[in-house]
Amino acid sequence: MIIIPKNIVTVDGKDRILKNHFVEINEGRIVRIEKNDEKLFKKYKGDVYRFENLTLIPGFVQTHIHLCQTLFRGLADDLELLDWLQLKIFPFENAHNKKSLLTSVRLGINELLLSGTTTILDMGTLRYQEFIFDELQNSGIRAIAGKCLIDENDLFPEFISDTKSELDEIYQLAKTYHNTSNGKVKYGFAPRFVLSCSEKLLKESFEMKKDFPGSLYHTHSSENNAEIAEVKRRYNKGNIEYFDSLGVIDDHSVLAHCIHVNDKETDLLKKNEVRVSHCPSSNLKLGSGFANIPKYLSKGISVSLGSDGAPCNNNLSVFNEMRLAALIHKPFHGALVMNAKTVFKLATIEGAKALHLQNEIGSIEVGKKADLALLDLSTNSHSLSDDDESIYSDIVYSSSNESVNSVMVEGEWKVLNKKSLLYDEEELNKKSKEELKKLLKRVHKS
Ligand SMILES: [Zn+2]
Repeated sequence: MIIIPKNIVTVDGKDRILKNHFVEINEGRIVRIEKNDEKLFKKYKGDVYRFENLTLIPGFVQTHIHLCQTLFRGLADDLELLDWLQLKIFPFENAHNKKSLLTSVRLGINELLLSGTTTILDMGTLRYQEFIFDELQNSGIRAIAGKCLIDENDLFPEFISDTKSELDEIYQLAKTYHNTSNGKVKYGFAPRFVLSCSEKLLKESFEMKKDFPGSLYHTHSSENNAEIAEVKRRYNKGNIEYFDSLGVIDDHSVLAHCIHVNDKETDLLKKNEVRVSHCPSSNLKLGSGFANIPKYLSKGISVSLGSDGAPCNNNLSVFNEMRLAALIHKPFHGALVMNAKTVFKLATIEGAKALHLQNEIGSIEVGKKADLALLDLSTNSHSLSDDDESIYSDIVYSSSNESVNSVMVEGEWKVLNKKSLLYDEEELNKKSKEELKKLLKRVHKS
């Protein structure tokens, strides 16, 4: 297959933006990037896609998502983290059955792909994790995912499992699903957060990833003041200090949020090469605070972006996260920080690096997997300039889901001309409404 776009934003080592170039894809990989050649296009045996008004970019990578929560969008607004969990999210997740979970996952995947996200790190839920994996495989999105681990729960005691069965189950899940779908689906061990996990669960799930090379450890950290006060009360340590004391943070650990982090803990993030997933919409909506992302970046700490879950955002759009990541730090650190190009890279190559997938995805280069998105940056809501730098500005400051025209994962179209090729959206919407109604009935009964 050949794709002929207007521009190619490569995000390669030199950050080249190519014009009058095409990309050839074979068996899911980029095999050639060369100057346009009409003679070649005429005799080419594969499909030739001409997108002469569109900009080709690497598919976006989001490093903190909860697909299981998509069904709950709009049902948990204007609450702080611990209330949000106790009053809404834990009861909702607890009421999931297989059908409602599957619908929620499909809704989320559909929204992500339609808006150009091709890789996610997903935190699953307590039950039926295999349904999430099956749908990740069916959909063809690239994902690292794992069952959410909870063996202590003062907030909502029904939503809990015991330590041993948690550990047994995740070992089996990792054995079944890690590195499946040609490596597109991998396992991510996912303790929920300190307050819902015993020391044993945190430690042993961390140790387990050694048996599954390429797997990750994914949890929440230092999100909310009341949360870290409770961590301090229980363990007399900051959240990241506590993780460090247990030996559960390393370069394969992704910590979502990292807002309330002191200098000592910042040094621990750096020393352990921890990956920080920045979720600005969620941090604002839950009133959690501002992560010091400019400081992390200046220290060389890995930062990538995530939209978290639909009920704390209430979108899964990477465009919202990029725009906010670029804007919210400027009042504290000055307008020069978090420029459009820096932020665009957080959502592409830096996301890939955070997940140790930078040799496969995150840029458009020969040999990499063809995870790609095509954007229309030519509308009246985009800049009129044709400068290379204006492309980053157009993507970060002026684009939205509407700007996404087509999306592929590993050389397979998932969205073409704004149409999902994966799901019948009308049917999905109808089914989701039905499942939500039933789920809410289950919540109110219990
Ligand atoms: Zn989260």
